[in-house]
Amino acid sequence: TDGRFTGKTVVVTGAGSGIGRATASRVAREGGRVVALDISEPRLKEFAAEHDGLDITVVTADVTKDEDIAAVLEAAGGRIDALANVAGIMDNMTPLGEVTDEVWERVFAVNVTGVMKLSRAVIPLMLAAGQGSIVNVASEASLRGSAAGVAYTASKHAVAGLTKSSGFMYGPHGIRVNAVAPGGVATNIGETLRYDSELAQERLETAMAILPTPVTPDQLAASICFLLSDDGVNINGVVLPSDGGWSAV
Ligand code: NAD
Repeated sequence: TDGRFTGKTVVVTGAGSGIGRATASRVAREGGRVVALDISEPRLKEFAAEHDGLDITVVTADVTKDEDIAAVLEAAGGRIDALANVAGIMDNMTPLGEVTDEVWERVFAVNVTGVMKLSRAVIPLMLAAGQGSIVNVASEASLRGSAAGVAYTASKHAVAGLTKSSGFMYGPHGIRVNAVAPGGVATNIGETLRYDSELAQERLETAMAILPTPVTPDQLAASICFLLSDDGVNINGVVLPSDGGWSAV
């Protein structure tokens, strides 16, 4: 049977949980060969067990580590048609005056540097093939200041910049680089979130009071797979909100 990803090798980060897991699942069910990576081995094992019989290779890897990126490339075996950079972490919802170096550095390491490192490693394969699609997971926090703390917001604005620069640079070489900006999605990301600031909590809760209710990870996988597949053929360098209308607020 012919699926949108039949014959394609697709790397998905954060595949152990939430939006990454739903994306990896959808790509595999639509015929793709998936290289699924996550920092959490138990989550990856659970994901693989749920998809017995589909073409999935799991790699326990931290996107911030060069040796782990090399292991992912090795597992892919010289061909990568598409890459979904989904792994990301929240901050502790602090404004600029209260943010710690530790939170700032970890959030940037995972949300920005990890995306840069894995994409940088994949680009030569896509250039050699003359085609490729990369989808980064941005956030409402890529578009506005009222969705998270300063570290997460700045990191997701950086993802938007990385996406646009890369789409611009590589478009003529057949490589599309886009981002999806999710609104609220019910996942495990709450585990990486704390409210460490009264100021931010009051401001953010006010801003979020009239937003659409959280959706399922599958609803984000639909948007990501649209851009990741040839359905997105004429779309390059965009940050596409997939937020049920948050963008209209
Ligand atoms: P999640 O926590 O359910 O899943 C994220 C996965 O990434 C986890 O399995 C985690 O183990 C993995 N991960 C974390 N650090 C990693 C690292 N260094 N290397 C490899 N894997 C790592 O979260 P989610 O909600 O599915 O988030 C996915 C993406 O969506 C993130 O980039 C997040 O910022 C973004 N996002 C989520 C929401 C939301 O409401 N859930 C909204 C906007 C944007």
